[in-house]
Amino acid sequence: MSEEKSYKPAVLVVEDSPTVLAVIQKALECDDYEVINAKSGAEAIAAANRPELFLIILDVSLPDMSGFEVAEALKKQGKSEATPLIFLTAMDPQNELTFRGYQAGAVDFIYKPAHPQVLLSKARIFFDLYEKGKQIRWQLEELEDTNRRFSQELRERRRMEMAVQESEVRYRSLLELSPVSIVVEVDNKLSYINTAVLKLLGEEDREAVVQHSLLDYVTDRHKEETSKRIARVLGQGGRAEPFETQFARRDGSTVDVEVYAACVMYEGSIGVQMALQDITERKLLEAEWRRLSRMDGLTGIFNRRAFDEIIERELRRAQRANEPLSLALIDIDAFKLFNDHYGHQGGDDTLKRVAGALRETAGRGGDHVARYGGEEFAVVMASTPAEGAMHMAEQLRAAVEGLGIPHERNPAGPVVTISLGVLTLTPGDSVTPASMVEAADKCLYRAKNEGRNRAVTITAE
Ligand code: GH3
Ligand code: MG
Ligand code: MG
Repeated sequence: MSEEKSYKPAVLVVEDSPTVLAVIQKALECDDYEVINAKSGAEAIAAANRPELFLIILDVSLPDMSGFEVAEALKKQGKSEATPLIFLTAMDPQNELTFRGYQAGAVDFIYKPAHPQVLLSKARIFFDLYEKGKQIRWQLEELEDTNRRFSQELRERRRMEMAVQESEVRYRSLLELSPVSIVVEVDNKLSYINTAVLKLLGEEDREAVVQHSLLDYVTDRHKEETSKRIARVLGQGGRAEPFETQFARRDGSTVDVEVYAACVMYEGSIGVQMALQDITERKLLEAEWRRLSRMDGLTGIFNRRAFDEIIERELRRAQRANEPLSLALIDIDAFKLFNDHYGHQGGDDTLKRVAGALRETAGRGGDHVARYGGEEFAVVMASTPAEGAMHMAEQLRAAVEGLGIPHERNPAGPVVTISLGVLTLTPGDSVTPASMVEAADKCLYRAKNEGRNRAVTITAE
């Protein structure tokens, strides 16, 4: 393109006679194009390679070859197709060589002596044709360029559309396949649920579920809190701290879930997207773990930790309700001797059986039996006044004696026995769990001193 620009359009005149050439050159003179010349066939063939050649005017008789031969050579080079050829001849137009000229690629003949005006106007016609052709070619190129750009843009846009579609499809199928239940709630309706939600809620019909709000599935106990949480996410935007709730299924079972909620735009509306994770099993495990952590490994009754919690709780309750509370501290008599005589394993078995007897005897709703230490137990009796506590103490004592576990070296009898220190807190007393235990322990000490296998009580000061 840039190379073409440096050339002016040109007409090539091939004429061996200098006088004729001068006349023709003068006739053709014009600002729009150049007039170049050749004086032989060979020169003509070389000059025809010049770019921007819009016309060749070729003398039929040249010194080295005839004009027709030159034309044929140019035709072979494909030149005469691009550049029109006009023969210059002194022959009679009816001459048969004229036909040879046309065959060789001539578009026209000019007969000598050529009239300058004819020469010029013919050259102009071909120049105009050439210019118009050039313009058309440029326009065509431009059109093709635009076309190319356009179809490239079109391809790019298609590709982007496909990519968006693909990522949307991928996102959707990811949601669908996710084992985590995912919902989007818009205007108190479940606008979107994935398949996992159906299983979580124990439902089969997707269409039926999306008619509801998620809150419709929340158990009464959790409704208010859950509703507040969802409203807060909507109000504040962003995402919230995960929270727990519980759903009721149609079959009556419940499922504990952890909810990860975030504010989202969904199909043009603001909604809350929630990922729901079934934590029923985790809750059960947690409960089991809590239960185990409060249980004594050997005897299966409450351990010391649980006892501390229970006495604390029951004391507060008793004080609040203005009710009596009793505590019995229990110690197996001469247990060191039992171990020495029957072995440690026998000792452990006895601890288990004693614990069992205590638990069976103190079986009322407000009774709590715990292993306090090695061979020491504690029974917390809620809403139990002094007489009731002493009555229970006697029953506990009798129950252990009644087990009839032989204890040859027990100074208090032939079988395993226990001593009990009993304390009853009357309404209005200001005590702490520690002071209750201390006072009960004093009673226990007295029971030991007074001969064991008995219960001793005092009234708290
Ligand atoms: P007392 O009648 O005065 O209570 O006499 P005792 O021997 O029971 O009193 P002491 O407190 O001196 O001894 C408690 C013994 O209980 C010590 C230990 O041999 C036994 N013991 C404590 N914990 C366990 C246990 O977990 N398993 C077994 N097998 N024995 C225990
Ligand atoms: Mg002891
Ligand atoms: Mg003892």
